[in-house]
Amino acid sequence: SGTAPVLEARALAARYGHVEALHPIDLHVAEGELVAVLGPNGAGKSTLLRAILGLVSNSGTVSLRGTPLPRQNPVAVASRGVVLVPEGRGIFGPMSVAENLELGAYRLRDRAEFARRRERVMTLFPRLKERLTQVAGSMSGGEQQMLAIGRALMAGPQVLLLDEPSLGLAPRVTEEILATLGTLNGEGLSIILVEQKAPLALELANRAYLLSVGRIVATLDPREITSYDELAQHYFA
Ligand code: ATP
Repeated sequence: SGTAPVLEARALAARYGHVEALHPIDLHVAEGELVAVLGPNGAGKSTLLRAILGLVSNSGTVSLRGTPLPRQNPVAVASRGVVLVPEGRGIFGPMSVAENLELGAYRLRDRAEFARRRERVMTLFPRLKERLTQVAGSMSGGEQQMLAIGRALMAGPQVLLLDEPSLGLAPRVTEEILATLGTLNGEGLSIILVEQKAPLALELANRAYLLSVGRIVATLDPREITSYDELAQHYFA
């Protein structure tokens, strides 16, 4: 259809001091798409997500359904529905699971909508439901990642950005979490997934961007990729 992408970045660049960690890139996420961003360590994947949010000094434009997002204002961007699950999860360890979830929806005044979102998170992650009063920091890494995603969902995202959700997790837990992302995407949620475990991300993704040294070096259809190792050798050597 002729509708604008959910998210569109044009000439988006980011720098740390004098170092341009992300050179001007164009990227988009269509309605209901799950887009993977892949690349080696230091390629700029986290920086790309941080630039979309305005968490780093950036230039260029990012639009949500055709409307430019506020610049260098991560809180305003998040309140528009561009929600990041950061690397390392960023949950509040001393607070309970329930309190962490509430924080995700701190701007929401509609109690019925709050209850609906919370119920949705409990259904997606039954393990959180069993641990609502538990201190978040005492949970396993996988449970904490579930909480980080749950908290992001409480914010009612238009597009969900995830930075290496599998980091440090056992393969089984990783599979469980990625399967849940697949479920959410299947329900229509638009997602950008940064992931080191490229083969797993490619199983879910509709499209993949390859990032190397701060540049998009390829945009790929996962169905046409037979060997990620060969791709990596070709693009990242
Ligand atoms: P990783 O998978 O290791 O997290 P990445 O692809 O996410 O890698 P980034 O973390 O975005 O890569 O880093 C991109 C580049 O920017 C790297 O060269 C990194 O050293 C640099 N960089 C990242 N954060 C900062 C910072 N706060 N200050 C200075 N340079 C930084």
